[in-house]
Amino acid sequence: MDTPWVHIVGGGLAGLSLAREIARFPHLPGRVVISESRKDYTNDRTFSFWLRKDQQAFLKPQSTHRAWSIGDANSQRVMVGDTYHYGTRSAESFYTDAMQIIAAHPQIEWRHESVDFAPTAQCVFDSRPPNLKSFEVTQSFHGIVAKTRHPHGIEHVSLMDDLKVTDNGIRFRYLIPLSDDHVLVEHTDFTSKATEFAVLRDANEAWLTQTFATQWECTRTEQAHIPMGVRPIQEHFGFRSEHGAQWRAMQQGTVTSEPNIGRNGQPLNLLGSANVTPIARLRVNAGWIVCC
Ligand SMILES: Cc1cc2nc3c(=O)[nH]c(=O)nc-3n(C[C@H](O)[C@H](O)[C@H](O)COP(=O)(O)OP(=O)(O)OC[C@H]3O[C@@H](n4cnc5c(N)ncnc54)[C@H](O)[C@@H]3O)c2cc1C
Repeated sequence: MDTPWVHIVGGGLAGLSLAREIARFPHLPGRVVISESRKDYTNDRTFSFWLRKDQQAFLKPQSTHRAWSIGDANSQRVMVGDTYHYGTRSAESFYTDAMQIIAAHPQIEWRHESVDFAPTAQCVFDSRPPNLKSFEVTQSFHGIVAKTRHPHGIEHVSLMDDLKVTDNGIRFRYLIPLSDDHVLVEHTDFTSKATEFAVLRDANEAWLTQTFATQWECTRTEQAHIPMGVRPIQEHFGFRSEHGAQWRAMQQGTVTSEPNIGRNGQPLNLLGSANVTPIARLRVNAGWIVCC
């Protein structure tokens, strides 16, 4: 079979976002292959991000909030945004939307495979997660989506409440009202040494019990250790920046690149143009680097 035009390694948020935007063009210069080591997509995370009103249709938040707070044990400051609101969207909704668009394109192939070889495609977009050990700061968090028996009455997002210093960094509580009777509470550490999830889970349960007594039940959990900061990943075919809040940047990066991908109705060869290519744009906008 002919060599792919683009090989997207890792069909997570970044890989699927790029493939989804490419898929808007019916005639591509060659095949696009997405290699993803997961067999299926599950609703494994809740994406949260800042957005302006005019970005609603593109970012498709399932809930938005105007107010957010930051505080410690003694005080809390609530701020209200005019231009920017805070939105959330489930991973499931993002994956489903993207996969529908991608699956309908005859030149794009999604493969369940783990890549540990050097791809031969003309362009390689490597989005495999970097090695946590090569970063100095880690974001460790555990989250519980709780259904409350009565409306919880929480009206604003807590970005960093109950902020405190710990042995290895800082800890805070992140809280999003997802609907009238659902909240996501996440205790989060920014730390030099990854925190045990059980410690953060216990903090979530303690807060839920203190706030709602027995009037809540856990409907879903999520947890992760995410590297923070920017560092070249030598062992990858390319390298990319990484931090814990990329969702919006990635979405914005793809849409910014779109005019370049499809200039004059003709998709550009990502390699061949002397002009600013989508690759360069993506690098600026989302920290993506495509190795060609
Ligand atoms: C529970 C959770 C909650 C989060 N919440 C937020 C949030 O609210 N806002 C935000 O901006 N960010 C959030 N993040 C961070 C978020 O994951 C990143 O913003 C985003 O997913 C990064 O996208 P990515 O494509 O770089 O990585 P991923 O989405 O992780 O995609 C990488 C993909 O590569 C695949 N892969 C790995 N190794 C291989 C291999 N050898 N071969 C082929 N495929 C491979 C993986 O299976 C994965 O699908 C959260 C992360 C988690 C885990």
